[in-house]
Amino acid sequence: MNAPATHTTSNTTEAQFLAPETHPRAVGNQDQQQGDMTALLQEVLTRPGVVNAAYRAFHNYSLGNQMLAAVQLGIKGLPLSPIASFNAWRVKGRFVKTGEKAISLFMPVSVKRRAAKDAPATDAESGEGGTYSVYMLRPNWFSLEQTEGEDFVPELVVPQWDAALAMTALDITEEPFEQLLGNRLGYAIRRTIDISPLNPLKHKTRFHEMAHVVLGHTTEGDMSDGPETARHIVEAEAEGVAYILCTLLDLPGQAESRYFVQRWLDGRELPEKSAKKIFGVADRIMKAGQSVTQ
Ligand SMILES: [Zn+2]
Repeated sequence: MNAPATHTTSNTTEAQFLAPETHPRAVGNQDQQQGDMTALLQEVLTRPGVVNAAYRAFHNYSLGNQMLAAVQLGIKGLPLSPIASFNAWRVKGRFVKTGEKAISLFMPVSVKRRAAKDAPATDAESGEGGTYSVYMLRPNWFSLEQTEGEDFVPELVVPQWDAALAMTALDITEEPFEQLLGNRLGYAIRRTIDISPLNPLKHKTRFHEMAHVVLGHTTEGDMSDGPETARHIVEAEAEGVAYILCTLLDLPGQAESRYFVQRWLDGRELPEKSAKKIFGVADRIMKAGQSVTQ
């Protein structure tokens, strides 16, 4: 596919931001039980504060699982507090209260590979039993309030992120901004990004341009087999990542970012595949910017 190798983020004159959605999709019913990431993203767009709160409570989990946990605890009317499996709580001297139902998160599950009849011998031999991992929802977790026993004081974790650390880890280079043309705020070419010195929300644009790179939008000769991703999808994905990272780190620009995501979608629903990519790439960029000691 011939994905455009350059993505330019331009300034716009629109000042009004869309009001938060007043009709969030039903999150927490069947949709959410199936791990509907589009519905989760809608939840994030509707309630920005929940991303930061979920991170503080569930920082050891992936962003998608953090949001799943937050939504399910919200439905149960429980606060966002640490979660753990039945056995992990037992190790801490706490036990799940009678009648408490577990919350479901995605976890890797080993699946047996179907033996292909005409597969070469090497393939047939690969891995005893030929298993591979897929992520499936499993009801294995309980929050602090669903347990009782010995006192437990949760550790307070403040989200931290370092741009230089993240760019090194993700093999992205930031170069001095050379294109002082028009109203460009930033752009990404292959694995290089540039942010305008005049950009009032540099961190937000940096997240956006890094997302283009990590999402593969700037790769020349992309081997994707589908049709070229539509421009509005590409931009909604990159801005979706920027939005999640701004809310996660509680940085300015959240309203602007939400506005851009909604403007790019213009009423069209984001494909489930894109929502998954947004959570996955936000997770990668976040983890890349954290020191290993955290
Ligand atoms: Zn862009």
